[in-house]
Amino acid sequence: MTPGQRNWDLDMLVDIFNDRDQALITQIPLSSRRDDDAWYWSANSRGLFTVRSCYSILAYLSEPPSSNVWQKVWKLKVPAKVKHFIWRAVVNVLSTADNLRRCQVEVPSVCPICNTYDEIVAHCLVNCSFAKSCWLLSPIGYVGGCENFMDWLEGIFTRCSSDDCDLAAMTCWRRLSSVLNLAGQVLFQWKSVRKLQVFDNNSVSSSHGAVCWQRPCVWWFKCNVDATTFLSGGTIRYGAVIQNSEGEFVAARSNWLISSFGAREAEAIGVQEILSWLKGLPFLHVIIEMDSLQVFTALTMDSFSPNGFGLLIDDCRALAQSLGDVTFSFVRRSANFAAHSVARVGGFLLGLGEWRLIPPPSLVSQLLF
Ligand SMILES: [Zn+2]
Repeated sequence: MTPGQRNWDLDMLVDIFNDRDQALITQIPLSSRRDDDAWYWSANSRGLFTVRSCYSILAYLSEPPSSNVWQKVWKLKVPAKVKHFIWRAVVNVLSTADNLRRCQVEVPSVCPICNTYDEIVAHCLVNCSFAKSCWLLSPIGYVGGCENFMDWLEGIFTRCSSDDCDLAAMTCWRRLSSVLNLAGQVLFQWKSVRKLQVFDNNSVSSSHGAVCWQRPCVWWFKCNVDATTFLSGGTIRYGAVIQNSEGEFVAARSNWLISSFGAREAEAIGVQEILSWLKGLPFLHVIIEMDSLQVFTALTMDSFSPNGFGLLIDDCRALAQSLGDVTFSFVRRSANFAAHSVARVGGFLLGLGEWRLIPPPSLVSQLLF
């Protein structure tokens, strides 16, 4: 970093790091207040480690599987624990007798149900006489003789409907223990509940954020903010429009910064810059309105993410508190078009653009008077 300043020393970065590392370093936003460095997990939007995000990275980095059976397993419409069970069967880590003996656990190797063959996954779930009679009673039917459970599963995926694939997975999970009907009932109940949950989630998201711009209450001002990234030029352009409770234009500002941040960080920087601008203006009650749900959620959540984005959000919150009566609001992009338009005007200006009482000509048609 440049000594005494809050920015990267680009000359030093060029001297020390290769192009890839330079680009990665300059993508880290710098907080205007925090001095201490901290570790964070970059694969998670909140900077926190999750097994899910780790799995996504490993899946991305690993060689593409020769079979698409994995994709089909993860697409099964069954509870996650059933998918997990099927995955464990395919990679042969179930606690069958052969696996237990391999781990030095002294158990009989023979199947305790038929007392004839060794208890391996394919025998246990497919070929055992009891398993065979279960499959024959089900709509899936019995196709025996396979030595490998994955081969059998691929056969099921090839010849069965998606509902029967779900039932086959569920039946394996129930360990074929004379519960074919129960497996079907559990699957039906789980799918019914899941449908309700999906419906509820959709209704929540569709009602989130106004579609049209709305005037603030008397004595309040509304400041719509938007930012756009231009990765090819390595710039962020942001803009804001302030209107009063009558819907009249009060002020607008646009500017641009050299940066290679992502869209989420750019939106947060837009809010940060506009909050700094508001510090010099005489408005006491301001609604900061944006169309970035990620930024709005982060600003209004009572939590801190230990990454660059989290530091920007922290700076925004501190700025808002120093201003006084500031609240945040989320709207759809259609309701934020004035700010979007001003942010784009910034792209055609050489530097800062600022307007008071008289809007820029390109904005006149966007404003609600
Ligand atoms: Zn058996």
